Amino acid sequence: MRLPTLSRAGYPARMAIVSSNAGSSKPRPERVLDTQPTPEEATVRVDEGLRPRKLADYIGQTELKQVLGIAVQAAQGRGEALDHVLLYGPPGLGKTTMALVLAEELGVQCRITSAPALERPRDIVGLLVNLQPRDLLFIDEIHRLNRVAEELLYPAMEDRRLDLTVGKGSTARSRTLDLPPFTLVGATTRAGSLSSPLRDRFGLIQRLEFYSQQDLEAIVARTADLLQVSLTPEACAGIAGSCRGTPRIANRLLRRVRDVASVQGQDERIDADLVTKALSMHRVDHRGLDAADRRLLTFLMEQHGGGPVGLETLAAALGEDPTTLEAVVEPFLLQQGLLVRTPRGRMLTDAARIHLTEAA
Ligand code: ADP
Repeated sequence: MRLPTLSRAGYPARMAIVSSNAGSSKPRPERVLDTQPTPEEATVRVDEGLRPRKLADYIGQTELKQVLGIAVQAAQGRGEALDHVLLYGPPGLGKTTMALVLAEELGVQCRITSAPALERPRDIVGLLVNLQPRDLLFIDEIHRLNRVAEELLYPAMEDRRLDLTVGKGSTARSRTLDLPPFTLVGATTRAGSLSSPLRDRFGLIQRLEFYSQQDLEAIVARTADLLQVSLTPEACAGIAGSCRGTPRIANRLLRRVRDVASVQGQDERIDADLVTKALSMHRVDHRGLDAADRRLLTFLMEQHGGGPVGLETLAAALGEDPTTLEAVVEPFLLQQGLLVRTPRGRMLTDAARIHLTEAA
């Protein structure tokens, strides 16, 4: 059985990207604060050297590390494959990174794919039959698996067995293949969209949380070290404060700040002023709001006295698609307590009024 095209260039020895996001229908991000990887980041080249490899280097997510650390030790002690793991939470918080860390800790390979790339039954069959004992199979966006792929996974996860139908019509026969012990690591931004039979087959279900300011400062400092960028502690705090609790954005903002510093010949030691200047070029403020966020809040305040305003009206007035507004722009504003959803529409909070007045 042949695997989908392997692309190994530049990846660490134990990691194989077996299929990309090519089939994904995610919109291409345009905002510097987008939680989805940019096309450049999605090819893994940019971020690869920045990913922590060991559990000890994985910053924050204390509970997650504790639970998975114990599970890894126990599995190793028994010489067994790690139980199947479901990681859920917003994009950019470290789900893929954690899968790679687990493989490194277990001393096995991690095969990476995403559900939209597993369109045909043979895609998932090819992956499963080529696994080595105790390998990890990482499936991103697992809530998007089609029904056939999902049904192939049930016996594979539960009994390490693949039930296949070979041939067609009257000559069709069922065949069972034994699989090596393996660990499925599923990642999703929408745990609620997973079918319950699939969810129930994961032994470990863990949520990733937004990172604290302190953890983000540690992540920025670590990335700065790896990129050989020198930052003052205030500059580090500035980037951490603007990245919406998300390491992927923190690393991206740091790269943008480094660009400005090197073009302006100020890269010897980057200070807080330079960070503010660089981020304001991307129209990102100290709270991590960008132009799209402020436009929405300002519109609510100036045109509707703070609301409530329905999503459709808001989207039409801002020239945005309602789904994008709801999925991309609003979640952070809601999480920050700058916006509230009421049955009559979106409303501005006092915190948002204060922020807009300060920013004006
Ligand atoms: P997800 O799979 O949840 O979308 P990723 O695992 O791709 O997120 O993480 C995005 C980037 O953020 C990674 O390239 C990595 O450099 C960085 N990152 C994520 N989590 C951590 C962490 N806990 N410590 C340090 N860096 C992290």
